[in-house]
Amino acid sequence: GTILALETSCDDTCAAVVTRDGEIRSNVISSQGVHDRYGGVVPEVASRHHLELVETVVEDALAQAGTTLPEVDAVAVTQGPGLVGALLVGVATAKALAAAHGLPLIPVDHLHGHVAASFLRPDPIEPPFLILIASGGHTLLAHVKDHGASWGRSGSIEVLGSTLDDAAGEAFDKGARLLGLGYPGGPALQRLAADGDPTAFAFPVAAQVAGLDFSFSGLKTALLYKTRELGEEGARERRADLAASYQRAIVETLARRVERARAQTGIERLALGGGVAANGPLRERMRELAPDLHVPPRELCTDNAAMIASAARFLDPVAFPDYLTLDAFATGERGL
Ligand code: ATP
Ligand code: FE
Repeated sequence: GTILALETSCDDTCAAVVTRDGEIRSNVISSQGVHDRYGGVVPEVASRHHLELVETVVEDALAQAGTTLPEVDAVAVTQGPGLVGALLVGVATAKALAAAHGLPLIPVDHLHGHVAASFLRPDPIEPPFLILIASGGHTLLAHVKDHGASWGRSGSIEVLGSTLDDAAGEAFDKGARLLGLGYPGGPALQRLAADGDPTAFAFPVAAQVAGLDFSFSGLKTALLYKTRELGEEGARERRADLAASYQRAIVETLARRVERARAQTGIERLALGGGVAANGPLRERMRELAPDLHVPPRELCTDNAAMIASAARFLDPVAFPDYLTLDAFATGERGL
């Protein structure tokens, strides 16, 4: 059997077909390049694009998988968190497709999806392990005890900590903007940092936050003050050093939380997910901690629907007509 999944939580319209044992039959992602010129995602623009694209993206996913809707077992969809208008397009479409073909629906938490990306073939990682998800919108650390029929602060995929303010990717993007780089800033900041000295400036690492939660807003403010102190020309001259030091502070903040989580749980195996997993120095630092670090391929780290299908494999389907009352949720209120 197979699962068709839809993911529309942010600016990518995604659909995928995945088998029950985690083989990806298709994984279609239609990115809305339009947001780059606004320097971020514009919610209403995102919703409108999802509406325009979703039907074609679903058709492509089914066609590439060589299947049709009546042949799939269930329809899975990202219920939240994310932009509520964007999520609604996916949820409404999934309900309609499922209802029209008498299929059950499986609502999935977006972050549970990011975790479940690591279960996909051809290179799955077996629980138990720790996973750090770092993207433009989210930063969290979870203890994956099993494949996860339950998700949240007390689930069998137990969320140990999440960010209290900015996400790690957001810290990269905001830092990049302060240094005059374009959006998305992470890759540009990494490139600039390659020519800089990461010890040139002492930015705050692992702000005074209890437990395993993260905070990045103080770091961003520290960069702002430092650039002001240096003045426009001074900051420009030292851009590479600023980028390298700032990047190092983000990476160290993440690494210290992972170290603490390992001490607390005794679990040594480690996986990464989310768009920030592409960051070279982050991977290097995490590999120092865990030489057999597991990082899914890039297209499975950024938003995609295969990861949503992967999570859905281990969740209970909701039968018709019970799912017709399901709503999208904007924030991580389900167990987070
Ligand atoms: P969501 O938060 O819902 O997953 P998103 O689109 O914001 O959605 P991703 O696509 O997973 O997040 O990741 C994008 C983020 O990753 C951006 O903040 C970007 O700057 C960051 N990023 C991508 N490549 C790198 C890199 N090499 N170094 C640092 N950050 C990076
Ligand atoms: Fe995401």
